[in-house]
Amino acid sequence: MKAAVFDGKKIIIKTVSDPKIKDSQVLVHIKAVGICGTDLAIVNRDLPVITPIILGHELVGEVIKVGKDIDQSWLNKRVTSEINSNIDFDCYYCKQGLFTQCVSRKAIGIDIDGAFAEYIALESYLLHEIPDSISNDDATFIEPLAAAYQTFEMMPLDQNDKIIAIFGLGKLGLLITQVALSIGLKLIVIDGSDKKLNLGNQFGAHYLINRLNCKDIPNEIKDLTNGLGADIVIDTTGNPDALKDIIASCRTRGKIHVKSTHGIETPINLTDVVVRELTLYSSRCGPFEKAIDGLKSGKIEVGELISKKFNLNEIKQAFASYQESRDHIKTIIQI
Ligand SMILES: [Zn+2]
Repeated sequence: MKAAVFDGKKIIIKTVSDPKIKDSQVLVHIKAVGICGTDLAIVNRDLPVITPIILGHELVGEVIKVGKDIDQSWLNKRVTSEINSNIDFDCYYCKQGLFTQCVSRKAIGIDIDGAFAEYIALESYLLHEIPDSISNDDATFIEPLAAAYQTFEMMPLDQNDKIIAIFGLGKLGLLITQVALSIGLKLIVIDGSDKKLNLGNQFGAHYLINRLNCKDIPNEIKDLTNGLGADIVIDTTGNPDALKDIIASCRTRGKIHVKSTHGIETPINLTDVVVRELTLYSSRCGPFEKAIDGLKSGKIEVGELISKKFNLNEIKQAFASYQESRDHIKTIIQI
């Protein structure tokens, strides 16, 4: 099959052997894959991985072969996949149902071969069927949207949590924007792209801050919040340099939630976190059922988040275009 292989330095399109399925697996013919900030961090060599590897985990495809140990009705179904494979179902975390943190887990497209290819072998327990009403392109948002929902699964809110500031309006920031609005929070969004800020506004964000026109973001946020700061501040910037402003924008006893996998060491001064008793949260993979329901019901809109589409042969241009434009939100590789 044709695959985009990352060799540790660059991505090369080459022919590799077709994946062989085990009895517990299905073979999926890939239709579309989103490029994630994590893919970018790997290609930029900020996030080390064992190479050679096929990247890509925001996948959509059709099941074309089913292993003999699993339900044959998966055949011909359109599916997406969770990313944490090789689960042992037996470790400390699995026994609590926390399969995404299994000690044996291998992340698809990060630790083991992923989906920038024609085919992928997937364990059946990772699969989620995609309803007919969700297109292939839109379905590439299911995995990141699940991560957006997980923000609030991991961070219980209290009655004083009313204003949330989201730093970074990429794909994840704009998905969290919509989830936060759906639970009734007031939103301040911060980005360097007017295009993205306008999209945030279109979804219902209450205050927009263009960081390029704002000398003191924490001060601006305090002006909008009776001098206190935001109750919750989210980092989806992918930029560790933003963390100083993120901490300073959070009110005393507030919540900071880190979503970016920077991949690189981040020097931050935690004194302010201690003195003002801030709580630091983080989260990653989330509930796929909620994400599928969010798209199916129309509660979450993703059509306008798709910036560009490329085919597999054009994957290098696809990665380049992701990095080039400040206005870029999401690139999809169609296979
Ligand atoms: Zn386990």
